[in-house]
Amino acid sequence: MNAKIWLSSPHMGGREQTFVQEAFDTNWVAPLGPNVNGFEQDLSLFLGGDYHVAALSSGTAGLHLGLVLLGVKAGDEVICQSMTFSASANPIAYVGATPVFVDSETDTWNMSPELLEQAIQSRIAAGVKPKAIIPVHLYGMPAKMNEIMGIARKYEIPVLEDAAEGLGSSINGKMCGTFGDLGVLSFNGNKIITTSGGGALVAKDAEIIKEARFLSTQARDEAPHYQHSKIGYNYRISNLCAGVGRGQMEVLADRVKQRRDNFNLYYNRYSSKKGIHFVTEPTGYFSNRWLTTLLIDPAVAGFTREDLRLALEKDNIESRPLWKPMHLQPIFAGSEFFGNGTSEMLFANGLCLPSGSNLVQADFDRIFAIMDTMLK
Ligand SMILES: *Cc1c(COP(=O)(O)O)cnc(C)c1O
Repeated sequence: MNAKIWLSSPHMGGREQTFVQEAFDTNWVAPLGPNVNGFEQDLSLFLGGDYHVAALSSGTAGLHLGLVLLGVKAGDEVICQSMTFSASANPIAYVGATPVFVDSETDTWNMSPELLEQAIQSRIAAGVKPKAIIPVHLYGMPAKMNEIMGIARKYEIPVLEDAAEGLGSSINGKMCGTFGDLGVLSFNGNKIITTSGGGALVAKDAEIIKEARFLSTQARDEAPHYQHSKIGYNYRISNLCAGVGRGQMEVLADRVKQRRDNFNLYYNRYSSKKGIHFVTEPTGYFSNRWLTTLLIDPAVAGFTREDLRLALEKDNIESRPLWKPMHLQPIFAGSEFFGNGTSEMLFANGLCLPSGSNLVQADFDRIFAIMDTMLK
């Protein structure tokens, strides 16, 4: 059996262990310490310098804490992109709120601004104004954030931007994660950079990030004893994981370039093939191309995305259907949904291809050998 080719696997830069060793040498083996502060500074600088960052234990923790910080409570409604990973939507349930799902548009595969406005108007007409909006940058392609923020401001609804897949992506130079009132990053093992597990909250407002640090370390009031006047969480990143993060930040720009190079290899080889479609960047949009994805129209291509997935799997190559939309998930059955069929089409026809920044030519030779026999 050939060695496994993964969809996206961790890719260390080299200096991660130096930062982790330093943490051991100084006994900063705790959910705080110099690596946590250093990692937050690195992220803030990368995002343009004007933003404050709280490093956390996961992106999911960031989304949960984000909803808490925005004041979302039991019984509230939160609008969420349907085409996404369940971690975008689960935190809505954590706070006892109800998700309202909105379909995608076909330019970026992310939240449709038109359907977002329809959803807001419809819910306001029903007497429940949504308390937050969660757009997502799928596979690194920025959502139409200028349009989404315009609508959000018009109706005065805060935006919690799920940039878990979009670190390094931007629109006209403005980084993903910095558009919303709060932005969320993820450093899970499969993301563009990893801390083995971790996440972050991003905001322009220093006060809200100060509050995020307070709540994520058990909400301890100033007192010699343990005193609490708010419900706290244990959501801070550890100083060891943050050490890995500091090493990864040194290579983040390379990782974006490598992922974009991967996309170009696939795109140049297959974009003109029958029934094949790649999502391209609208003017001013810059995708980190976390994962390269394609759509296969079976009526034209003569095979389905599942046929290609199984052919790759036979040679021990991992690929995966696009996210199954949240409004189709058993756990969210019966949720409000504002749609036009786009996310259902994407799920039916879309496949994520091996996209790791550590793929080598021999890996692509194996992938292309199989794809060449099918894509004509
Ligand atoms: C990975 C991911 C998350 C969750 O991040 P974790 O760090 O794994 O908790 C949330 N949303 C999206 C879109 C993701 O891809």
